[in-house]
Amino acid sequence: MPIYEYVCSDCNLKFELLRPLSEASQGASCPRCHNNAKRVFSTFSSFTKDESGLTTRIAGSNPCSSCSAFTCNTCNL
Ligand SMILES: [Zn+2]
Repeated sequence: MPIYEYVCSDCNLKFELLRPLSEASQGASCPRCHNNAKRVFSTFSSFTKDESGLTTRIAGSNPCSSCSAFTCNTCNL
């Protein structure tokens, strides 16, 4: 089973869960406070190549790029 990362929207605890793919998009229960946790895509980023061959980040693929935390409340990632 693949591992998915989740972050608790209440206490900001980040944790990993082994789940079947069919349940990956469902919310998880925080192991600390048992509130709802949301799945995070910590290592995912999108790139595209333009005609000049330069690799540029797709605009908007990572709205949290200026933020170092997965638990940023501003960008809600
Ligand atoms: Zn929590």
